[in-house]
Amino acid sequence: MLDGRIYNFSAGPSILPEEVLLKAQKELLNCGDSGMSVLEMSHRSKVFDDIINGAVANVKEVMNVPDNYTVLFLHGGASGFFAALPMNLGTKTGKADYIVSGNFSNLAAKEAEKYLKEVHIAASSEADNYNHIPRQDELDLSPDADYVHVCWNNTIFGTTYHYIPETGNVPLVADMSSSIMSEPVDVSKFGIIYAGVQKNIAPAGLCLAIIRNDLIAEPMRICPKIWDFKKEAAKNSMLNTPACAQIYFVKLVTDYLKEQGGLEAMKKKNVEKAAILYDYLDSQDFFINTVNKEDRSMMNVTFRTASPELDKEFVAGQAERGFSNLKGHRLVGGMRASIYNAMPKEGVEALVQYMKDFAASHS
Ligand SMILES: *Cc1c(COP(=O)(O)O)cnc(C)c1O
Repeated sequence: MLDGRIYNFSAGPSILPEEVLLKAQKELLNCGDSGMSVLEMSHRSKVFDDIINGAVANVKEVMNVPDNYTVLFLHGGASGFFAALPMNLGTKTGKADYIVSGNFSNLAAKEAEKYLKEVHIAASSEADNYNHIPRQDELDLSPDADYVHVCWNNTIFGTTYHYIPETGNVPLVADMSSSIMSEPVDVSKFGIIYAGVQKNIAPAGLCLAIIRNDLIAEPMRICPKIWDFKKEAAKNSMLNTPACAQIYFVKLVTDYLKEQGGLEAMKKKNVEKAAILYDYLDSQDFFINTVNKEDRSMMNVTFRTASPELDKEFVAGQAERGFSNLKGHRLVGGMRASIYNAMPKEGVEALVQYMKDFAASHS
């Protein structure tokens, strides 16, 4: 890490690659020879056009997006998108299946209830405090649903899908906010992949959506124009003023990912980083990870000690070690280390060292 920086384990907004921050700093006074920063320029300018088109092209390249998909940048983050989704896709039978595996999938289902005739919970792990991902054979899917919604990586609980649900002809829609671009995914298996960008690719406030073209159709009449997929697609995500700075960061981060060797290389690093933490967790019994082993997230690792007091003490000691944001979400307590793409391996190793030292002095 550069001087003055710390290992930031925040779940979001979260750590960005230093190379990207330095590039943004360098271009802050003069971006693309325009004599101004991206914060100041018209979204109708040639320089910004190159930025947004470059960002779209990079997303397609990095994620290996098939030609029959459109990349959109929409307002309102992931929550904006999961409100827009039922208004855009719920127009045939007005029924959708939601697989509830954590807080955000629950919120998405609640939001959809406002707009759909029927929100069917196809499976839920709520009764087990979301410690696992529902299995294919637990899914009660409706053949006439307009879509099936899943949350791919459960940021708060620290679980993730390690299989792609089979949904027949019903399009699968996945909220990948906290795992987007952490490893390759077969986009062709999904109707829509969307992500609030603040976990792995940019500052907060923007949603990246990758939508199969046949799902871009006339939405419900009540759908706000800025969340109308068809209108936004026709205007290259610039129906109104887009989140220019966020889109610029998507461009820089995807440039960086390409330089780093793409998502295969990211996966290799992320697997290695997560293993450092999980191997340690499995080797001892001072810290506990309560999620189902097969469903462990590579991005958000949750753990706790035997007592809330010790958890508190552990979190209180983080600053001295040069860490921040290790406190778990209020819904689960304990600790959470978010180890997104930009978190170096050294940060994870330093965290494990702190855990070892803490355990030794408190056992
Ligand atoms: C953070 C997060 C959200 C919410 O994102 P906003 O951009 O704040 O709406 C939704 N889903 C998942 C999986 C998240 O991690």
